[in-house]
Amino acid sequence: MNSNELFEKSLRFVPGGVHSPVRSFKGLHTTPRFINRGKGAYIWDEDGKNYIDFCMSFGPLIHGHQDPEIKEAIIKALENGWTFGACEKYSLETAEYIVNKISFIEQIRFMSSGTEAVMTAVRLARGITGRSKIVKFNGCYHGHLDSMLIKAGSGLAGTAEASSKGVTSQQAGDTLICELGDLEEVKRVFEDHKDQIAAIFVEPLPANNGLLIQHESFLKGLREICDKNCALLVFDEVISGFRIGFGGMAERTGIFPDLVTYGKIIGGGMPVGACAGPKKFMEFLAPIGPVYQAGTLSGNPVAMAAGLVNLKKLTPEAYVKLNTNTTGVVKVMTEWMNANGFDDYQTIQYESLFYPISTHEKLTNITQLPKNMNERFFALFKVMLDKGIYLAPNAYEVGFGSIAHDEKVIEDLKNRLWN
Ligand SMILES: *Cc1c(COP(=O)(O)O)cnc(C)c1O
Repeated sequence: MNSNELFEKSLRFVPGGVHSPVRSFKGLHTTPRFINRGKGAYIWDEDGKNYIDFCMSFGPLIHGHQDPEIKEAIIKALENGWTFGACEKYSLETAEYIVNKISFIEQIRFMSSGTEAVMTAVRLARGITGRSKIVKFNGCYHGHLDSMLIKAGSGLAGTAEASSKGVTSQQAGDTLICELGDLEEVKRVFEDHKDQIAAIFVEPLPANNGLLIQHESFLKGLREICDKNCALLVFDEVISGFRIGFGGMAERTGIFPDLVTYGKIIGGGMPVGACAGPKKFMEFLAPIGPVYQAGTLSGNPVAMAAGLVNLKKLTPEAYVKLNTNTTGVVKVMTEWMNANGFDDYQTIQYESLFYPISTHEKLTNITQLPKNMNERFFALFKVMLDKGIYLAPNAYEVGFGSIAHDEKVIEDLKNRLWN
């Protein structure tokens, strides 16, 4: 069966035909490709067509598809069994490796997704501070937990409403929404809710509604507001962790959060998330502390084995390659777009993340995104897909460079674009 037939069938058995909504190609007037195989920077669909992949499973595959060393680690771990629900060495070794390499964390707990990591951090922050409210920014994504599926209310500043049915108004009421970059608003929200705010949650490099690069003074300001109000600062580094250097944006800026969440790259393409921080905070978690958190498949040995090798391969040289590759990709794409009817586009790049967007304005919050971006993205996406270039199928998603997108792939990209 080809992709169209498979999707048709999928619609019968699966809501919307997909197991995660962003895979549905909604608004792109075509059916999703069913992917059959990936290798390096390439994927193949069930129709036999191949693509240069810039979605890379939305970030985890920093070394490309089927990296041989990661594959070998998976197979080796697998041969001893794939889950025990008991202590085992791979998760210990991975914890030790990460804690030793990242200066501001002393303990880490593994779980199976980024959503779980953020969910843990929310409960932990509330448990530590004894407060119930959290601050979140318009345009940051933190997974699909109830307390984060909240958007700015249409009424007064600081009010909020659920962005999904099924989230209660109580939950919405405990999440306070601010605009990225607006420290004055954050200060006001803290004054209005004195001694009620447990934590500020922020993607230090917001990369889920385009790439909204923040000035360091914003992160520094958040750190100061938290200190002044005895609230915790939580960096959600599910995308930026291990990508913007090993220690993510925290190590890059020297602005350290009280808790950090990881996902995506940490498992090397297997399902892993993590919440980490200093011992004094992390030991609030059960079994030592009063904040409950658990997982049947947490610290799964096969996932941990993959994650560990994946992380060990992230040498300083690997980061140089990663960023050089991405700069090469962006250059080729920009040249082609400028000469081929997409000259309203710019490509915003931050190291190995890039974001083609149909405006020349500088973007720092979502209110600045252009009105016609969906239409324009559809046009770009369609041309790219036809040429064998796979962008994440949504106007708000960033592109992910990888170590596998080397000079040869960039040359191939150029040929695909111009032919
Ligand atoms: C992807 C993402 C999440 C959610 O992770 P899942 O593994 O999809 O649950 C949370 N926060 C950020 C910043 C993310 O990019």
